[in-house]
Amino acid sequence: MVQVIAIALQILTHPLALFGAAAGAAGVLIGKAAQAAANLGGHTWATLSSSSNYGRIPVPRTPGLGKTATVDELLKTGAIPGQQGVILDQKYVSYSDLWELTRRTGLEYALTKENGSFVLRSGAANTVPIPNGIRPIAHTHPFDNVGIPEPLPSNPDINTLNQLWSLNPNGRRPRSTIIWGPNPGNTTQFGATGTQRLPP
Ligand SMILES: [Zn+2]
Repeated sequence: MVQVIAIALQILTHPLALFGAAAGAAGVLIGKAAQAAANLGGHTWATLSSSSNYGRIPVPRTPGLGKTATVDELLKTGAIPGQQGVILDQKYVSYSDLWELTRRTGLEYALTKENGSFVLRSGAANTVPIPNGIRPIAHTHPFDNVGIPEPLPSNPDINTLNQLWSLNPNGRRPRSTIIWGPNPGNTTQFGATGTQRLPP
C-alpha cells in the first residue's frame, strides 16, 4: 500500500536534542502521546532520520517481546523492538541481517552499545530514535517510496553526531554507519561535521 503521510514526529524532550523534527509541508504534529513515549526508560531521545517524508509513524513494539533477543529471533518471529528496543544476546551483529530486518518491515533500525551490550531499536519508515548521548554504531535506511535507497546521512543524522561531539568537544570526531543495502558495499560511513547543529 502506498500511503504517503508527512508527519513531524517530535519525540524529543530535551532542548539539546531538538533536532530531527523537521516539519513536512503537510505536517501533522503528534503531541503529548509521542512525548510520553519519549520518556520510556528515563531517556531523552535523538532521532536518526532520512531525508524523505515517507512514513514517520513508528510501528509499536511487539507485545510480549522480551528484553533480550537475537537478530535471528527477530527475523524468525517478525517481532518489532520499537523505541524501547531489545538487548541483543550476541557478540557479533551482521549489518546485512539488520538490512534484512529493514527490508522485511520497511522500518529504520538503529544499533547502539549501552552498558557493554548491543541494543537494537526500530522506528518508522524514515526515522529511528536512540537515547540522547549514545553513539549510533549504525542505522538502516529503507528504500523510499520510489524504491531508491538513500546512502547519504540526513541533517538529523549528522546532528546526532554533532550533538555527541558537543558533549565531548575534546574527544574524537564521532562516526557512524548507514546501512542502505544487503551487501558489504552498501554502507556509508559518516562523521560529525562540527559541534554546531545543522539546520533541519
Ligand atoms: Zn539516517
